[in-house]
Amino acid sequence: MITGRTQILGVIGDPVEHTSSPVMHNAALQALGLDWAYVAFHVLPADLQAALRGMRALQLRGLNVTVPHKQAVMAELDEIAAEARIIGAVNTIANEDGRLCGYNTDGYGFIESLRQEGGMEELPSQVVLLGAGGAARAILHALLQRPEVEKIVLLNRTVDRAEALAGDLDPAGLRVEVEGLEEHDGSGIRDAGLLINSTSIGMHPNECSSPLRNAACLHAEMLVLDIVYKPLHTRLMEQAEAVGARVLNGLGMLVFQGARALEIWTGKKAPVAVMKQAALERFGAAS
Ligand code: NAP
Repeated sequence: MITGRTQILGVIGDPVEHTSSPVMHNAALQALGLDWAYVAFHVLPADLQAALRGMRALQLRGLNVTVPHKQAVMAELDEIAAEARIIGAVNTIANEDGRLCGYNTDGYGFIESLRQEGGMEELPSQVVLLGAGGAARAILHALLQRPEVEKIVLLNRTVDRAEALAGDLDPAGLRVEVEGLEEHDGSGIRDAGLLINSTSIGMHPNECSSPLRNAACLHAEMLVLDIVYKPLHTRLMEQAEAVGARVLNGLGMLVFQGARALEIWTGKKAPVAVMKQAALERFGAAS
């Protein structure tokens, strides 16, 4: 029930109509018994500044930010958390009495998914990260916060982009090794305990594709996290399961990044199980 006191949260993006965030967050708000609601706003790049002025004027409590606004929105904020600044992207804005504060909760979502769903309190010493886009930036930053991770093999189709990312986050070049995704011979993967796919390969409508042309380098002692969540079971996950590796899809990361955003906005512990069930129904039905 919307009342005169209902507080509004939302997500801005272009396009935005396929987002699962309203389903997930409204289920959580209801479970918490809060008179708050979460909606999707289609904001074109040319209207981003006006949208943020509107956020202040309408006193929206918080916004998630999705493609293509995660970088551009940073110029419109009063404060940016150190992590988001280093990553170079904001996915959550909190309106704190008129001050707009930016955060990035993707790295938290990634680590919590590994910890709570993958049982990885400690990460392996060697990790392979496929992709060098927006999601990879947050993931690489989170990996570099963990001292037990000694070496990260970063593989991307466009090597220059991966080199730029590694140069930003590991400027001394001590822990990140860059190679071309298509030329890689699999050696780095054979020695790794964790492989993460942060490319969009395998995502709907290209469910038959895998980022690994030769999956023989996958092995039973590794965990493979494919951050794609549509479909919930990807071709890469099939390849990993075939050699006995453990697998996770991107739903957990999605839910935990949302949970962290909700905690920033409300100050209350997010009902993660409720959020996961809502997202699962959304994607289970859609996949
Ligand atoms: P992005 O910034 O557009 O980056 C896309 C990445 O995929 C780049 O590394 C790109 O390589 C690579 N790629 C795309 N098509 C390719 C192809 N045909 N061959 C080889 N490489 C290809 O996207 P993003 O925001 O990082 O998102 C990437 C994926 O992560 C999407 O599926 C998204 O849904 C998912 N995601 C999940 C979560 C979650 O919470 N689970 C969060 C964020 C994103 P180049 O650099 O060579 O173009």
